[in-house]
Amino acid sequence: MKKIFTIILAIIGFFTANAQLECGTKVTGPPIRFSTKQQDSLRSILAVTTPYAVRVHITVFADDNGTNVAATNANVMRQFNNMVNQYQPQNICFILVDVRQVNSTDLNNHDADTEEAELNPYRITGCLNIFIHNSLPGLNGTAYAIPNTYLSLSGATIASTTNLTTMGHEAGHCFGLYHTFENFFGSENVTRNSGNACYDCDVDGDLLCDTAADDPTDPNGQVNSSCVYIGGRTDACGVAYNPPTTNIMTYGDRACRIVFTNGQGTRMRSMMITSGTLIPIVADNVVFAPATNSALTYTSGVGQDSGRDELYISNNTTDNYTVSGTAVRNLVSKKIYLKPGTRFTPASGGQVHVKVNPYCN
Ligand SMILES: [Zn+2]
Repeated sequence: MKKIFTIILAIIGFFTANAQLECGTKVTGPPIRFSTKQQDSLRSILAVTTPYAVRVHITVFADDNGTNVAATNANVMRQFNNMVNQYQPQNICFILVDVRQVNSTDLNNHDADTEEAELNPYRITGCLNIFIHNSLPGLNGTAYAIPNTYLSLSGATIASTTNLTTMGHEAGHCFGLYHTFENFFGSENVTRNSGNACYDCDVDGDLLCDTAADDPTDPNGQVNSSCVYIGGRTDACGVAYNPPTTNIMTYGDRACRIVFTNGQGTRMRSMMITSGTLIPIVADNVVFAPATNSALTYTSGVGQDSGRDELYISNNTTDNYTVSGTAVRNLVSKKIYLKPGTRFTPASGGQVHVKVNPYCN
């Protein structure tokens, strides 16, 4: 009897595990495409030799009384470093503005379908906001929309030592990438011969031709532990799928996912310099705060000033940069200069963090 009970439990466990969706990001039309002419005109700044630096702010939720912290700091940093490494080949780096804990039982148990707007008060302007929840029912993560400046991850995803890519995957959606198996615009065929009547990789699937057509039928369960596709399915033209099982934007076996293609890198960079949503989260190489002779005064709220290479606070003799009261300011860059005119006098609850960012070389 006990054995039967165990088997029943095992079966329930099996179905529960499979019910856990990788990602809740929703695609809505129309497709976001970049014409060859548009990309040619941007060629020099889209090149992989041009560095892109994205500001990231991480919020880890806990219950009202500070218990049930959604993720340990060590695991957050382990997964953040994984993401840093995944984007490095595309010369996209990250400025880690801050990792903070927010106590809210409500946000720590977050329904991404119905409670998305509850995140709004916690979004930090100018950053990709990563929210980590102890419970994110039904999901490992979601970027909510494409493109976007915030995403949610489950605590279990952050703790996982086999799934190293959900943070990078959801960030990919935020930066404009679709799933490789996306069929919202139409299922993609396998052929890469533009003379073939079945050729559609530029308008269907993920709109990219350097990611192989991916089987949309059951993208979560057709890759074995050797990263080989075993679904055996064919596209609408009868050609066998050979999907990109190592791509970060597929599902398959999560441990197999390790790379972005150059087409995906170009698409992300194109989004970062053309999307009104994303332009504010990409940092300039050198930043002056204030930008001109003037004064910046912060007495409440959470915010940041950051640059990729150099950050000058109160650079000119007539500048003033003042932080007081309950304001929390994060000043982050490879090099930071605090010039005359800088005043930090935080009261209880106020903080100023001056941090050297090691993630953009
Ligand atoms: Zn996804």
